[in-house]
Order: sequence, then C-alpha cells, then structure tokens
Amino acid sequence: MIEVPSPLRLRLDSQALVANWRWLASQSGAACGAAIKADGYGLGARSVMRHLAAAGCRDFFVATWAEAAALMPLPEGVSLSVLHGVGTSDMVAARTLPVRPVLNSVEQVARWREAGEGRPCDVMVDTGMNRLGLRVDEALGGALDGLSIETLLSHLASADEDSDQNAQQLAAFQALRQAIPARRYSLANSAGICLGADYAFDLTRPGIALYGGTPRSEAQGHIRQVVYPETRVLQMRTVREGETVGYGATWTAQRDSRIAVANMGYADGYLRCHAGTGGGATWRAHALPLIGRISMDLIAFDASDAGAVGEGDWLALDYDLPSAAARSGLSQYELLTGLGARFERVWS
Ligand SMILES: *Cc1c(COP(=O)(O)O)cnc(C)c1O
Repeated sequence: MIEVPSPLRLRLDSQALVANWRWLASQSGAACGAAIKADGYGLGARSVMRHLAAAGCRDFFVATWAEAAALMPLPEGVSLSVLHGVGTSDMVAARTLPVRPVLNSVEQVARWREAGEGRPCDVMVDTGMNRLGLRVDEALGGALDGLSIETLLSHLASADEDSDQNAQQLAAFQALRQAIPARRYSLANSAGICLGADYAFDLTRPGIALYGGTPRSEAQGHIRQVVYPETRVLQMRTVREGETVGYGATWTAQRDSRIAVANMGYADGYLRCHAGTGGGATWRAHALPLIGRISMDLIAFDASDAGAVGEGDWLALDYDLPSAAARSGLSQYELLTGLGARFERVWS
C-alpha cells in the first residue's frame, strides 16, 4: 500500500497528557485511573493507554465491548472495565476478554451471576443521575449479595457546578460504602476530583482533564493543552474589496485581501458554530481569522496580515478547549470527540 500523507493532523503532546494525569493523581490522593471511551475522547485509546500505563496508570474505562476488544492485548498489569455492562449480546465477549463489566441493573447482575462463572465484576449504583446503575434501594435490598465486586462505582451528575447535588451524591455513596462490600470504591470524574479529597475514595476516573479540558476553575493553570489540530493550506487567493467568500456569501472583504483556503471542514468535526465567533488559526505567531461559512471539507482564513504564509503551510487551529468551548457553544467533550478520522494522529 502506498503511504498517503493527510492534509490534516492532530499533534498530540504525550508529556502534557502524562503531566495532567499526574496532577489529577496528586489531587486525588487515591489511585487515579483513566476514562478512554470514545477512542480516548478522539485522541486514540490505544496510544492514550500506552502513555498512561507507562506513567503508572492501572485502571482504564471504556464504554463498550467493541472498544475493549480493540485494545487487546492489554499492557502488563493493566485493568480494563466496560462501563455499559453486559447486554445479552455481550456475553461471549465478556467471558472471553480479560476485562470486567460494570454491571448497571438488576438484569445485568442476574446475567452475570448466571454466566460470569463467579468472576469479579464492577457495579454502578445510581445516586441521582438516573442514567446507568442500580437504584440505591435495589443495591441495599440484597441484589448484590454474594457478588464478587472489584470496584463499586457511582457517577456525579453536576460536579462541574457548585450544586447541592454533589454533597447529596457524596452522602449517598458513603452510605453505600458502609453497606456493600467491594475491594474498592470510586465516585469522582475530572470535575469530582476538583471537589476535594472527600470525593476520591479509592480510585478516581478522570477523562476530559487528561486531554486538556478544564472541568472546574480549580484546575485552571494546572491542566495543559494536549490536542493541537492543524490543517494544511490548499490554496492562496486574492479577494478584491467588496467580493465575498464561501457559501451564502456571508463574509465580504473590507479591503483587498489574501485568503488561505485549507483542508478541513465540518466533516472533520470543525462545525459551523465556530464561524463568526472570533476564532481562527495561527501561523508563525500570525493570527488568521476564520472567515465565511465552514464547508464540508474546506475552510477559509483571512491571511492578509499573516506574512508569507502560502500553499502547503500548516496552520494551527485555536483549540484551547475552555476558550474554544466558550466561543463555539460546544462542550469541551464535543470539541474533542467530534474530531474526525481524516486527522492523522501524531504523538510527540
Ligand atoms: C466518562 C466517564 C468518566 C470521565 O468523566 P470526565 O468528566 O470526562 O472526567 C468517569 N466515569 C464515568 C462513569 C464516565 O462515564
């Protein structure tokens, strides 16, 4: 097969990833795992796992069995859990792979009792989010008796806000810990780690903050950017004052302008809501404001004040997650997981 270079790339900073994990681990004061579902939030789950396992991370979480199967074989000493538990069609994978299910309902517990051959499992109990997990009354009412539980989990619904729900979920989880035997207990995601050591228990499960997201103000200044999307200039063109650029002619040149047309569009996850919000790209410290409507595979920047930028140059997108989220109205999670398959992932 011939090697075809992609005109879009994600530069991924493994040192920043590891530094973020170390900071989260130090804040946790407990074992610190990693959520690597959705292909490591778009970065590539296998690479994320390799870098974090080398740094000492031992507990990883994916959403589905297909995601787990794609990560085989696991690095030495690493544990992997599947957050969505076991449906009827998952039992072959669940019995075959060296991976634990996170059981989420009385039905899943029964399925695991019947076919899990006594192997250990994780269990999710819902303490107020009402998404996945056994209800507290089910968990306390004997549904889990005799099960070999490695990690008992619950998940915070509002940890990124100063909500009363955080303390309520914490109290409910503390009560569960008194009543249900498990080897370890785990409540906090990235934002939960920022709520303080009370929330950490034995194991924390950060996701977004590993990848450069700032879940709460407490993390500001500690979390480093990991993902740097770059796109290559396909063509330079001159646009005369009064001419317009792109679909719908939404941008009009106020002066004779140099325009850089680059290889990226909404099909790559760079959605139309980025337009008109003041963002853009940089080339050698020159700012290139994004102009006009974003096309499927193409995007235009005003390069009038960007020096000698030309065809083939790589433009670095403004993609600091907190500010890109504030500008676009997308969440930091959507900004990462939307980045498409056409980006070549390049780790340094
Ligand atoms: C996704 C997920 C996490 C990680 O959450 P972040 O907000 O990305 O830190 C932790 N636990 C569960 C159950 C999850 O689904």
